[in-house]
Amino acid sequence: LVIAALRERAPGETRVAVTPETVRKLVGLGAAVAVESGAGTTAGIADADYQAVGARIAPDASAALAGAGIVLGIQGPDPALLAGVAPGAWVVAGLDPFGQRPRVEAYAAAGLEALAMEFMPRITRAQSMDILSSQANLAGYKAVLVAANLYGRAFPMMMTAAGTVSAAKAFVMGVGVAGLQAIATARRLGAQVSATDVRSATKEQILSLGAKPIFVESVAGIEGEGSGGYATEMSPEYQKAQAELVSSHIAKQDIVITTALIPGRAAPRLITDTQIATMRPGSVIYDLAVAQGGNVEGSVADQVVERHGVKIVGYSNTPAHLPADASALFARNLFNFLSAFWDKEQGRPVLDEEIGTAIRLTQGGKIVNQRLLG
Ligand code: NAD
Repeated sequence: LVIAALRERAPGETRVAVTPETVRKLVGLGAAVAVESGAGTTAGIADADYQAVGARIAPDASAALAGAGIVLGIQGPDPALLAGVAPGAWVVAGLDPFGQRPRVEAYAAAGLEALAMEFMPRITRAQSMDILSSQANLAGYKAVLVAANLYGRAFPMMMTAAGTVSAAKAFVMGVGVAGLQAIATARRLGAQVSATDVRSATKEQILSLGAKPIFVESVAGIEGEGSGGYATEMSPEYQKAQAELVSSHIAKQDIVITTALIPGRAAPRLITDTQIATMRPGSVIYDLAVAQGGNVEGSVADQVVERHGVKIVGYSNTPAHLPADASALFARNLFNFLSAFWDKEQGRPVLDEEIGTAIRLTQGGKIVNQRLLG
């Protein structure tokens, strides 16, 4: 079996889907690994590093793909690049199935079996294969660092001979994987941290990180972990109560990190321009949901914009700002996935029903995933 990894071509993408560590392990399973020359450059990995662990370095994409049975990517490769890949081959990556529908259709038309890593079920045995978690964790961390850097004041309280500097107030909206790491990072930097979510189960988690929960109490939120632990769209009544709660709280915040997502839908709007106008000039908002439509009114993908003296950060691919660690974890997610299903006799992975059905988007020339058909 030939496993190929290409250089990522999306603007701003710095990650790579295989690392020397995972190439060595894939070769150990009995696979041949082909890596397109330069694939690791932006993540600090040289061709020679891959070669040293047994990869074949290919001068271009088509050479890398020769004979490939599995193509690994961070994002889904352009279908035009895959023209020479045999029908039935797997394309395994973060395929953005809702955002990149035409691409998924092209994979189907080419007879490829597209497997979307972000559809991995949130079950215990698949935790080590979960790209959403590994990347969100890094994004939550980096968002706080970027916000701290753009903020014209310090995070911790400092008592100096020249007087006292007060602690920054940071508010995290959406306490999933990214939000939890954002809380922890802001706390480590010395900010006073508060956080909110629609899922009541996050209240305990916020408290355990030493932050203050800010919750709508008048209207019921989502009890427990909900379906697969994900949020759903809230009632208009809840949204109104949330907007009121946020309005009074946000005016006192210096740093706001928003991470709220709803799978398969546009991100919920959590902060309006009117609310931004009540914040102190010099404050910073980081909208981690910008690529899904944004939690913050006025956030712009891949830009830092200023509204009412408040900086709004809209980097759409925050994990790409930590290319080495993000690649290392993403590549391990891919390896853990392939190795968990490795069939020694066939010398290739064979999926089981539960995970296959969840992540398989295309097969036999058609779109087969219920989440895309339903
Ligand atoms: P996500 O990226 O889908 O969303 C981020 C957060 O935004 C979520 O906590 C969500 O509840 C929240 N949110 C949505 N709408 C909101 C609104 N209107 N206002 C405020 N907050 C809002 O979430 P995630 O980081 O992928 O985590 C989702 C869940 O999955 C969590 O319960 C997490 O613990 C769980 N999880 C489980 C596993 C596993 O068991 N394998 C792995 C990772 C995550």
